Parts: sequence; structure tokens; C-alpha cells
Amino acid sequence: MTDTKNLGFNSKLIHGGGHHDEYGAATVPIYQTSTFRFDSAEDGAACFAGEKDGYVYTRIGNPTVSALERQVAELEHGYGAVAFASGMGAVSTVYMAYLNAGDHMISSDAVYGASRTMMEGHMSRFGVQSTYVKTEKLENIKAAIRPNTKMLYIETPANPTMGITDIEACAKIAKEHNLLLVVDNTFCSPYLQNPLDLGADVVLHSVTKFINGHADIVGGIVITKTQELYKQLHVMMLNLGGNMDPHQAYMVIRGLKTLGIRIDRAQESAMKVAEFLESHPQVASVAYPGLKSHPQYELAKKQMRGPGTMISFELKGGLEAGRKLMNNVKMCILAVSLGGVETLIQHPASMTHSKVSATAKAAAGITDGLVRFSVGIENVEDIIADLKQALDKI
Ligand SMILES: *Cc1c(COP(=O)(O)O)cnc(C)c1O
Repeated sequence: MTDTKNLGFNSKLIHGGGHHDEYGAATVPIYQTSTFRFDSAEDGAACFAGEKDGYVYTRIGNPTVSALERQVAELEHGYGAVAFASGMGAVSTVYMAYLNAGDHMISSDAVYGASRTMMEGHMSRFGVQSTYVKTEKLENIKAAIRPNTKMLYIETPANPTMGITDIEACAKIAKEHNLLLVVDNTFCSPYLQNPLDLGADVVLHSVTKFINGHADIVGGIVITKTQELYKQLHVMMLNLGGNMDPHQAYMVIRGLKTLGIRIDRAQESAMKVAEFLESHPQVASVAYPGLKSHPQYELAKKQMRGPGTMISFELKGGLEAGRKLMNNVKMCILAVSLGGVETLIQHPASMTHSKVSATAKAAAGITDGLVRFSVGIENVEDIIADLKQALDKI
């Protein structure tokens, strides 16, 4: 078994996880079992008491799932990781593990919709309070801190504005005020950003997006900086029951191998697509951290190893223009989600947010002409040609 500690990122994607089985399988096998046989009553007792390492029951731990957890923990430079059935399984278990009744959380206002609904609509029933601010401006965070604030939960880049929050500066504020800093790193993946290195305590991903990368499963993972944070999270996961399934973990391990080359290709294309969009007469503005026109271009360069593959842009023609664009793209897939090998396009005002009130849309930064674009690994000429023919029909 190779020691992967000193290998480069792409080598870790192929050889990480340190799985070893008796047949010497080159890939991690799917341990499709719910339970594990004990050698004796004494052996079972020792496993249960935690005196001996060993698998007991798949909700608590499974070799295929553990291989993925070890691998992602290593990629994010954390102590350990816990995998979940979905990204939202990860988010809600983080809330449940680290917040108590009477605690207060501060979060980015552009945070993933369901992460906010879970907090405001459900954690509130258990006495957890929350405030949502534009975390791109550090003064907003400082102003929102209360005596009972326990967690700072950020997402960067944020959706759909592509606003960047300074992770290192947030870590400093968190340290001063004794807050747990949680970063949703879904939009970057560990290939482009490592929040733990910048001072975060907990990092999470919707594995559904870049980490798996093939739009064929949903999943989530949380990486902790310390053993103590890992233990708190793991015990909450096994009691809530949102564990990842071994077959799902196998799919993710397979998808993860190409994370680096997938992002390299899509990111190279994203820059060209962003430049094309900036030059098109139907486009009012483009938000992409790789463009000099991005208000936090310098900060993005400082904390991310690349600008990523997500672009949002504003159409001059508003709602009707958005609808026309959606109905005229041919190769790009009209769908939500992101971070896969296929290019996806979405128009929140006529699709995901069509039933949302005008005030709520405005508060979330969803304008009528806003389009969200996730660049895939197709030939960039084909992506641009498809966008061009559809934009020209507006
Ligand atoms: C998709 C997503 C989630 C939720 O993940 P699921 O896998 O859909 O449950 C959380 N955060 C971000 C930033 C996401 O994009």
C-alpha cells in the first residue's frame, strides 16, 4: 500500500484512501453488506466498546465508505471525514452536531436555498437562531455577532452572484469570538480551495457536484479539522441515519479519480465562455471570478487555485430573453445542479424561482435576466456555438 501523504493532488485522486483487501484489488470493492460477522462474543464486545477497530454495522461504518472518507479527508487536509446520503444530509447533520438550543448562527445570505430553509424553518423549532448577511463584507459579520453566536457558516463563491468571502479573515473573526467556522466548499472542490488551510474548522461538500462529477448520484461529505469535531459529527450521523451507501461511495470514488483533469478542462473553457459572453450584445454583465471585471478578482486569486467553472450572467432582455435562451439551447442541458462533465444551463426566474415572490427573489439577488451556467468538458467551440445560436435568437 502506497503512502500517499507526499504525492501530488492528481496522484492522491488515484491512490488515496489507503484501502487494502486480501485479494489485492486495484480498485476499492463494494462491500454490499448491512452487517459484519464477529469472530467471537469477546471480539464483538470489544468492537462495540470501541476498544478494537472493526466494522459492526453499515450505518456506523463500511469499508467502501471509509475509503472515500479517508481519501477526501486527505484532499482537504483534515483529521477525518464523514460521508452522507446527500449534501443536505451533510448540512443538516453539521447543524445538529454543533449547535444547541439558544445558540445563534451567522451565514451568507446567498447560501444554498435548502441550507437556509433547514435553519430558518426547522432548526428554529429547536431554538436555534440565525442571521443572514452579505459575508463578502466583513463588517456585516462583525455587526451580526451576539453573545450567543456559536457558528459562522459561509459559502464561497456564493450562488448566483459569484461573490467571494475571505475565508482567512473569517477565521480570524471566528477565533476572536470563539465561533466554529464552517465552509461549504462545493463550488470549488478540494482541487481549487482548501478552507481548513485558511483557518476553517469544518468543510462540507455536496458530493453530487464536482467530487462525483458525472450527474449520476447525490451525496455529501463533511471534513473536520480535529478529532473532537469528527467524533461529534460521526455520532450525530449514525444517530440521524443519513449515512452514505457503499454502492454510492463506490460511484463517488470512481468519479473522484478524474476531478483534477475534469476541472482543468472545464475551467479553461469557462474562461473562454465568460469572455465570449462579455462580448455578446444580448448580455448585460458576466459574473466569473476569472474576469478582471469581477469585483473580488484579487481575493479570488488569493484564496482559490483557479476561478472555477461556474458563470452567471445577466441578459439585457429580462424574463422573456431568459425563457427564449433556455428554449433554444441544443447541446447544453437545461437542468439544475452543477460541477459535472456536461454543460448545464438554468434560468432561475422562469424555472427554479418562478413561484418565488418578487421581494424574496430580489433579496436573493435573482434578477429576471439572470442565467446560471455550469461549464462541462465538451469541446469549447461547441459550447460557445450553442450559446451563440441561442443568444442570437433572442
Ligand atoms: C447542491 C448543493 C447543496 C445540497 O446538496 P445535495 O447533494 O443536493 O443535497 C449544498 N450546498 C451547495 C453549495 C450545493 O450546490
